[in-house]
Parts: sequence; structure tokens; C-alpha cells
Amino acid sequence: MASPAHAPSELDRALNGDVRALARLLSLVEDGSPRIREVIADLLPRTGQARIIGLTGAPGVGKSTMTGALVGAFRAAGRRVAVLAVDPTSPFTGGALLGDRIRMQEHATDEAVFIRSMASRGHLGGLAAATPQAIRVLDAAGFELIIIETVGVGQAEVAIASLADSVAVLLAPGLGDAIQAAKAGILEVADLFVVNKADKPDAQQVVRDLRNMLALGTVEPGGWKPPIITATATTGEGLAELVTALDAHWDWLCASGELKRRRHARAREEITMLAFAALRDRVTGNVDELAARVADGTLDPFQAAEEVLARGQD
Ligand code: GDP
Repeated sequence: MASPAHAPSELDRALNGDVRALARLLSLVEDGSPRIREVIADLLPRTGQARIIGLTGAPGVGKSTMTGALVGAFRAAGRRVAVLAVDPTSPFTGGALLGDRIRMQEHATDEAVFIRSMASRGHLGGLAAATPQAIRVLDAAGFELIIIETVGVGQAEVAIASLADSVAVLLAPGLGDAIQAAKAGILEVADLFVVNKADKPDAQQVVRDLRNMLALGTVEPGGWKPPIITATATTGEGLAELVTALDAHWDWLCASGELKRRRHARAREEITMLAFAALRDRVTGNVDELAARVADGTLDPFQAAEEVLARGQD
């Protein structure tokens, strides 16, 4: 655990329920502070307990409303819940996003609920690297369920959604329908589908489109067939079914060994990403001298690349 020399450390406070300390720790994560490396090493033994649920879908389908409803359902079951709303598309909404939009005021004074939005503060790579660390911090702080809500539908959202153990894709009539989701490559990452706004007339058409598309895929014996849940987030209709489906998926993940496989695959991704980032830092240093020699034909580019890679290795 954290440095016993000066007690209690910021990390200790954050892990023991001090919400402000937790928020400051997450700011360090978000800023890509070098101090985070030490923090993560310290809290690692306390991680691995949380269940991570990803919620993704096009803007306006009802993610925030559904997240609020899910938080309510999990709290009613006595579970501690954290929400990370990740917006890969906008560097400017950080902090304001959830505060303004989410219908969660009822949870604002509940200490067992922690809500945080993270924006990309300049570049996407930073956000992709920060999100797993933010998850670790919340996991170590004892949140049993961590909901990652991503805004938008695209490659970045797919990548961030894949940080979750269970990925729920939200669709709604008129917005982010099944065809758009298919184009964005998001059907493949879905463990569950929620057709929200079931109170609207076209919702059943979305369900039919989705069924047709999913019928094209095959499910192996013992595999998981993503269910389609129809819901109305504003009234809570379908919420119980969603919670049941999420629990069933979690049970399947645990029983089938898929949880272990997914977490292993995620760790591989993360290591690779960190290694590439470190490599990029090394490679994007001064290559002008080598470039000049390659350009005037006195050095071949393969040799030049090898020289760059060899830098800092000794
Ligand atoms: P997000 O952008 O995906 O997070 O969507 P929001 O949760 O902000 O919802 C967008 C709008 O749709 C808001 O005005 C919600 O009140 C509304 N909304 C959300 N769920 C439903 C629903 O089930 N039915 C209807 N009719 N409106 C909904």
C-alpha cells in the first residue's frame, strides 16, 4: 500500500472514501502526470474486484438517462457504483458534461456513487491511456461496479468500450440505428443491445433491423448470444431486464473463462500501447541529422531506422 512515511497519503485518503482526494487522483490520471505510475503500482494489489460495464451509442440515444437509471438500480441493490463518462470527441466538455446533462441529481449526495467525466484534453491517445488507469483507481477505491459511458460512435468509442467486461450498445429510433452502428463496427463489440425509446413508434423497427443483422452472425456452443432489450430510460421500463441481462452476462463471463481471457487481452493491449508510446517518444526525438543523410543518399533508411531504435537502449 501507499507510503506509510507520511500519513495518511493522498492515495490512502482516496481509497478510503475521501471523494475530493479521489477526484484529485483522477485529475492526475487525466493529465497524464508522471506521478501516476507510482500510484498505480501502489494500488495494484487492491484492484481486480470491480465489474466494468461499458455503455456506448450515438449522441442522443439516451446513454446518460440510462446510466442514471442503472445507477439507481444498482444502488437499490446496495452496490457502490462509479461512472466514468468518456468523451473522445470533444476536448472542451471536460467536467461540465455530466454535471450539466446527466439526470443524476438524486445521486449527488450519495457517497456510494461517484461520477466523473473525462475529456480528451488535446489528444485521443492520452484519453485511451488514461481510462484504464482511472478504472484501476476506482476499482481500488472499492467501487463494485464501474460504468464507462462513451459519447459517440466510432473507432475511439469502440476502443474504449473494449475496456469493459460487458459492453451494452444503445440504439434508438431515428438516432444511431442498427445500420449506423454496423457501419461504425460497433455491433461486433456488443454483449447486449438496448433499443431505447421504446415509447416511440419506430422502436420495433430498430429491433427488427438489429435481429436481421445479428442473424448473420453465428454463436458457438457455450458462447454468448447478445440479447436485445427494449427499454424506456425515462420511465425505467426495461431496466430490470437490462440488470438481469448484465448479471447473466457477468455469470457467463466468470463461468466460461471469458472474463480471464478478456482481461488478459486487455492487459496485452495496454502493454503494447504503453510500449508504443515510449517508443514514439524515443523515435520522435532528433532525427534531422539522419534524415539529411538519407535524403542526400549517404545513409539507407533501414539503417537510419535501426539507429533510431537503438537510441537509449544502453
Ligand atoms: P445521450 O446523449 O445518449 O446521453 O442521451 P440522453 O440521455 O442525454 O438523452 C437524450 C434525450 O432523449 C433527452 O432529452 C432524454 O430525456 C431523451 N430520452 C432518453 N431516454 C428516452 C426514452 O426512453 N424515451 C424518450 N421518449 N426519450 C428519452
